[in-house]
Amino acid sequence: MIKVEKRYSNLANDFLFKTVAEKRNKMSERFDDIIDLSIGDVKLPLSRSVVEKCKEASDEMAKIETFRGYSPNGGYSFLKDKIRKEYESGNISINNDEIFISDGTKSDISNILDLFSSDNTSLIPDPVYPVYVDTCIMKGINITYIDCNEDNNFLPLPDGRVADIIYICSPNNPTGAAYTKDELSKWVDYANYNKSVILYDAAYEAFISDEKYCRSIFEIEGSRTCAIEFKSFSKSAGFTGMRCGYTVVPKELVFEDMNINKMWTRRHATKFNGVPYIIQRAAEESLSYEGERECRKALNYYRENAKMISKTLQSISVKFFGGENSPYIWMKCPFGMKSWEFFDYLLSELRIVGVPGVGFGKNGEYFFRLSCFNLKDNIRVACERLKKLGDVKS
Ligand code: PLP
Repeated sequence: MIKVEKRYSNLANDFLFKTVAEKRNKMSERFDDIIDLSIGDVKLPLSRSVVEKCKEASDEMAKIETFRGYSPNGGYSFLKDKIRKEYESGNISINNDEIFISDGTKSDISNILDLFSSDNTSLIPDPVYPVYVDTCIMKGINITYIDCNEDNNFLPLPDGRVADIIYICSPNNPTGAAYTKDELSKWVDYANYNKSVILYDAAYEAFISDEKYCRSIFEIEGSRTCAIEFKSFSKSAGFTGMRCGYTVVPKELVFEDMNINKMWTRRHATKFNGVPYIIQRAAEESLSYEGERECRKALNYYRENAKMISKTLQSISVKFFGGENSPYIWMKCPFGMKSWEFFDYLLSELRIVGVPGVGFGKNGEYFFRLSCFNLKDNIRVACERLKKLGDVKS
């Protein structure tokens, strides 16, 4: 008889976003002016130049001379060249065969566990993007949590505990906190010392505007022997529905005499047939002069949203983190409310939807995530409503 992977029964149910959606939908039956700041999904359309490139690439697919079938393993060099040059502009040197184009960070940061034994232990920040926890459970990897809280500004540093796989998400979802070079160096030293690997999720790197924060772990000396970096076009170019990202696996990454770059190359060749040509051309265009200019405009739009919400919370003396180098605002629930309690209050009293912090880990209790991915007019209305929290407080 077929046997199933029983570890799936160890997963927490997907209660968080399901419950958020259920409660929002129920309230929508009574009110048509609910503002949803829960989901971290982009709202602005693709840039004009990216759309034009998609059309051009589609036309190529219609002609026998320019038609393309399977993508080369790891992606087309036209896109890898652009990515490599992006790194070079930040004085980081990587080779094209260290770049692997994929359908996004969610897949890669999950699939990378194929390369590591389930005997490993992982160190995962709490709170954090829930995918790390779920994929470790699916693989049977033992998890140790590292606390992110107000005491460490949601940026924990190595605390002496040893783990084999270290997850770092910077800027962080949900807290918006980002590591500086000095702070990340501590993690790199720790990983090299313990022969651990850092899985560095930089999905929100495009939101960094302050140079003191790292845009890539490869800015840090020694990182090539301990880190794998995951980047995505989802938030930088509005590609959540297009699906494109990439992973950088340095050739110096060797554990137990096994070269991780070679293993990932092999894994890609065996299990993945590549991102569509049209999408890779679109991603390439988002890194062109015009594409970058247009994508920057969209990022600035979301940054202004974040500023509006930050100013509003400041004006009513509600404590929050993030919002500056991140599209998320991590606010402390007012009135000492727990995060689901505040969720219900915000929805019923102000008709705003956010995400209860506890859904991202136990340390998220008493916190709440607001996403800045929305249209400016909605953010304005949401801010007006949020101000009412100040009236209640005083
Ligand atoms: N990593 C983090 C921290 C995220 O919050 C998300 C999406 O919200 C992803 C990765 C997913 O990225 P992608 O769309 O490239 O799969």
